[in-house]
Amino acid sequence: MNEQEVCSRIPELFGSMVFGDPVMRQRLPKETYRALRKTIELGKRLDPNAANVIANAMKDWAVEKGATHFTHWFQPMTGITAEKHDSFISPDGDNSVIMEFSGRELVKGEPDASSFPSGGLRATFEARGYTAWDPSSYAFIKNHTLCIPTVFYSYSGQALDKKTPLLRSMELINKQALRILRLFGHDDVTRVVTTVGPEQEYFLVDEALVRQRQDLTLCGRTLFGAGAPKGQELEDHYFGAIKPRVAAFMRELDEELWKLGIFAKTEHKEVAPAQYELAPVFTNTNLATDHNQLTMEIMKKVASRHGLCCLLHEKPFEGVNGSGKHNNWSLCTNTGVNLLEPGDSPRQNAQFLLFLTAVIKAVDEYQDLLRACVASAGNDHRLGAHEAPPAIVSMFLGDELTAVLESIENGCECPQASKEEMKLGVHILPRFPKDATDRNRTSPFAFTGNKFEFRMLGSNLSIAGPNVFLNTIVAQELCEFADSLEAAEDFGSALEELIRKTIRQHKRILYNGNNYAPEWVQEANRRGLQNLATTVDALPALLEPKNIELFTRHKIFTVSELKSRYEILMEVYSKRINIEALTMLTMAQNQILPAVTDYSHKLASAALDKKSLNSQLDCTYETDTLQKLCDSLARIHQACNALEKSVAAAQDIADASRQARYYQQQVLRDMDVLRRAADYAETLTAQQAWPFPTYSQLLFSI
Ligand code: ADP
Ligand code: MG
Repeated sequence: MNEQEVCSRIPELFGSMVFGDPVMRQRLPKETYRALRKTIELGKRLDPNAANVIANAMKDWAVEKGATHFTHWFQPMTGITAEKHDSFISPDGDNSVIMEFSGRELVKGEPDASSFPSGGLRATFEARGYTAWDPSSYAFIKNHTLCIPTVFYSYSGQALDKKTPLLRSMELINKQALRILRLFGHDDVTRVVTTVGPEQEYFLVDEALVRQRQDLTLCGRTLFGAGAPKGQELEDHYFGAIKPRVAAFMRELDEELWKLGIFAKTEHKEVAPAQYELAPVFTNTNLATDHNQLTMEIMKKVASRHGLCCLLHEKPFEGVNGSGKHNNWSLCTNTGVNLLEPGDSPRQNAQFLLFLTAVIKAVDEYQDLLRACVASAGNDHRLGAHEAPPAIVSMFLGDELTAVLESIENGCECPQASKEEMKLGVHILPRFPKDATDRNRTSPFAFTGNKFEFRMLGSNLSIAGPNVFLNTIVAQELCEFADSLEAAEDFGSALEELIRKTIRQHKRILYNGNNYAPEWVQEANRRGLQNLATTVDALPALLEPKNIELFTRHKIFTVSELKSRYEILMEVYSKRINIEALTMLTMAQNQILPAVTDYSHKLASAALDKKSLNSQLDCTYETDTLQKLCDSLARIHQACNALEKSVAAAQDIADASRQARYYQQQVLRDMDVLRRAADYAETLTAQQAWPFPTYSQLLFSI
């Protein structure tokens, strides 16, 4: 198909594989459609008859599109999606079959859950887990299979997935935001949702090269590799022209995503060589989460069709930018108002400022949770290095908005406000120009005009977790604000005082400077901000009494759900590092040491040959290099021994937290020593003698 044909087909293509609103409206009886909308919009329970009708309509639609199977599609704690396929086929009489799909099969499933991580929530003898249809996200067809988005929970009702708490947190913030909107007289608003547009970064490398490297194949990142002579210093990759092979990949990716109703919009090159970004148009957080999971899956699949490998690791290459996922987040009413839009009348501003200060207070009081929800072994390599936000959480508002807040705090005139507006009493809250914010790419949490951009997420993280946390902490502050304002005698003055007090108490979290600068670490320390450098430092926040209290009060997580999540995350951290350590040992012992030995041998024989030819010939290159390589061999060998020992010692630590700490303090250090020694040997060895593709080949071959 040529370009023009593709373009003309986009409207027809878009959402063609989604059982979305238009299909529902067209295919469902009016009554059933209305009942389903109620379920979607208001969370009303669906009656079994309606479920049967919907299931049947879904099945007919899916079969027409070539589907033969259906699956409950869910998001267990592995961070990726899971599915278990069943065919629609039922026996009918002797030798015939019919295609069947009942309401019961649509609404509830019972996958064997025993091999999904549960962090002790489900004893192994009690393998039962249930999936339940989430009608607020649309069913879709992928690989001839009708996929039904579902939540996943245990026999006793504990959440075993990432979607359940997300839906709970969306309900919570809806309720609290509505309380605030009532105070401002917006009785027309009946629902508030959080919206997210996650910008997805990724690397594309040649698949044939990736297959030659065990580290990339098994761990998704390079564990060895001397830096390429050229990195990103020329900044010639950012927004550069896209090579034909990558362009073909992007075109096919867009088409695949559009079919699933995913609004992939902008695609461009990122700063690092071989790095790219995809930004979708934002949508409600539940759909955005499902869509982002699908996007990651489809990126990998489509890349492979083009002989490419899509790396979603947070830090595939040392010394080069890592990949993040920018979680653009806002609040939107069912009347179409973005609650983080500053607006241009003072009255709107008062409401905006209340929501803004709620976010400021939330980020300050729950810095630890924001850090914890992005923590992973991979992201530890990214945060604080090469153009990634540091592990210290702070917030960027831009100079103008900061000036507005300062003027409110000090009760003085705002530079932007006119005299007239200042006389408006309660509503003295000033006007400020739209787009008042400049850009600060270094901030972990930046206000960007009408939304917040949370930039600490690693590229392969499910956005469910961070949004559960964001929704909950902001809802908590809105709840406190509503409690105090609902009880106030004079709403106007109480509001003004509340905003002023909040700014005063939480302004330490605001920072417009360069987050990459070393001085910021000291300054942040002086301000009493937390600096939780590693996952092992960050995760205990999940079990802090103040945080347990927060999540349980709002029924987002039970205590045992929180504990199980902590256990799972700590275990995954240790397992990841363990796999990396073992991969390094294999590569070092089976590939690097033998290769360097062979090459040393070559050098030695070259020197001997020369000498036997003519004892006067100069052999300093051979002997010097040989000397260095022999030293290297010894150091690599030694480092392997040390790493072997520490990996073995780690196995003996039963407690998950202590074990993770040991991996972080000892195993990672031993891995680093091994890497330095091997990378040095690489610089001395002929390229064709090196046993796997180098950084130059990986980063610059497409
Ligand atoms: P950038 O300069 O960061 O690339 P863009 O305007 O391209 O800014 O937006 C980046 C992302 O932010 C997009 O995915 C977009 O859909 C998302 N976004 C924009 N507005 C909102 C909003 N109100 N809520 C959530 N996400 C939003
Ligand atoms: Mg951005």
